[in-house]
Amino acid sequence: MRIPESHPRYHSLMTREKLVEGFRKGLVAPEGLIAQGRGECFDYLLGETSHDFALEAERAAVAMLIISRHPVISVNGNTAALVGKEISELAKLLNIPLEVNIFYRTEERFRKIAEELEKYGAVVYSNSDAFLEGLESARRMVDKRGIYRADVVLVPLEDGDRCEILKKHGKKVITIDLNPLSRTAQMADVTIVDNVVRAIPNMTKFAKELMSLEKEEIEGIVRAYDNRNILRRAVIAINEHLSTRAGDFDG
Ligand code: ATP
Ligand code: MG
Repeated sequence: MRIPESHPRYHSLMTREKLVEGFRKGLVAPEGLIAQGRGECFDYLLGETSHDFALEAERAAVAMLIISRHPVISVNGNTAALVGKEISELAKLLNIPLEVNIFYRTEERFRKIAEELEKYGAVVYSNSDAFLEGLESARRMVDKRGIYRADVVLVPLEDGDRCEILKKHGKKVITIDLNPLSRTAQMADVTIVDNVVRAIPNMTKFAKELMSLEKEEIEGIVRAYDNRNILRRAVIAINEHLSTRAGDFDG
């Protein structure tokens, strides 16, 4: 479908189109389309913008990725469809591998996601030769070189159970989740409350800035970061946005 740029919901509709295209190509699971709907709702309530708390979390996330020993970026179907190119660029810039990890696993979808990411020249781990104990779903299968031994994992659009297991295995978790009230958002060490389509390009900008800093300065950013404060500000932002909109009905 062609969407005119003048349409008031242009960006949101374009994102939907990208996801539907990803679904048709076999990258996205049907459940992924529903997950996007939940995300859209929160984006609407946030005013569809990258707030200061999102930018602060994105910057701290990049800092954490830079100073970690074995960072890895976990990619699912929705992420590959929405920002496959952008997340590959970020991974290449930071010299971090991507790992394909999906909830509703079929070998075909798994392979297609890996191929989609490889197209953009990123290093893609897709071996499934290790297990994360404590998980029932197919996502317990991980790559020995990647999530299995990682100290920091960036997992956009993650499910609460898996986030919990990653934490139990002693990993630092960075997530991108528009719902500040989700279990994932509450459990992660860094919660980026932003749309993944805005978050990844923002992180690439921060990566370019931070890579020129001294290691001590980057460590300082991570030390000063407070995720509870970020979550509080995200919930307040929704509240304030709704209050402003309620005011539209005054008089
Ligand atoms: P949890 O399991 O963490 O409690 P959930 O069960 O509500 O979350 P899931 O389907 O497990 O939801 O996870 C998907 C999450 O991704 C949702 O919280 C949703 O708001 C978020 N999400 C969906 N699309 C996007 C997007 N484009 N950008 C950022 N976040 C998104
Ligand atoms: Mg869930």
